[in-house]
Amino acid sequence: MNVFTGIAGHEAIRERLAAAINQDTISHAYLFEGIEGVGKHTMAHAFIKALLCTEPQAQHMPCGHCVSCRTLESGNHPDVSWIGREGKNSLGIRQIRERIVADVHTQPYQSAYKVYVIEDADTMTPEAQNALLKTLEEPPSYVVLILLAASSTGFLPTILSRVVTIRFQPLQNDVIVQALEERLKMDPEQGAVTAALSRGSLGYALQLATSKDFAQLRAELSEILTQLPEMRPPQILKLADFFDRYKDKQDTVFSLIKLWYRDLLMYRSTHDLETLITKDAAETIRTVSASYTTEELLRQFSHVQKAEDAIRQGAQYAFTIDWLLSTYI
Ligand SMILES: [Zn+2]
Repeated sequence: MNVFTGIAGHEAIRERLAAAINQDTISHAYLFEGIEGVGKHTMAHAFIKALLCTEPQAQHMPCGHCVSCRTLESGNHPDVSWIGREGKNSLGIRQIRERIVADVHTQPYQSAYKVYVIEDADTMTPEAQNALLKTLEEPPSYVVLILLAASSTGFLPTILSRVVTIRFQPLQNDVIVQALEERLKMDPEQGAVTAALSRGSLGYALQLATSKDFAQLRAELSEILTQLPEMRPPQILKLADFFDRYKDKQDTVFSLIKLWYRDLLMYRSTHDLETLITKDAAETIRTVSASYTTEELLRQFSHVQKAEDAIRQGAQYAFTIDWLLSTYI
């Protein structure tokens, strides 16, 4: 049991930050780098809570009831600032100057530390980064800066050399399945499908899992794919309506279709339902896999991949979908 118990995955990071707290070797600046929804915010929040608690228990576990713990939970802690883009494309020099540079020399109000979290820090303009540099070079002893970013590529080398970079790897599917089970009571079979689509982001998995649209989309698509081998050309062409309706969810649609082919191919080669990701559709997969040869499945899969790539590279959506459907006729 430590400060970070309850956070999904990232064991090495949890241990590292817990050790920093326990051994009092906290750095002045961290860069948490990783894809959206991987757990950077959650980790930052737990870290800050442990840093600021005024009545910590053994192993620096935050008490949960001191003024610091309570104000943190309500989002009004006077010694914690979350700085974001405020709806803009980038984080400008004004925000960095006003929220950090002008504020940093005021002592913390109620805690040993004063924490600034910069969200989407990789969108800071070069001017904003230069403004931040002064604080990074000579931070007051009580200051901890946490930069959250999808990638470290947009940063000036002078920034990167002054922060401790902590990389959040995409979460393993089994970690996501377990988290979905614990948090949403989702059964592991359904969780496995959601995890397979989440690309290692628990945030995205939770969003999918709680989205009514996703459940509806998956049900509709499953029905289409199940009936596809029996469909006549006019019915196949009419599927353009489905793709049109879910145009804004095209990434999920393509991922689900590819998952379908992945499982059909897997079953054809192994005849083992345990190898499937969509175990909740196992019987359907078994039946449908008999309708195709392996070559047909591979060909169809490559058409789907080709269509997805083409759309990503700017091909017109409706036109590409029409092409894809024509390959089934
Ligand atoms: Zn506390």
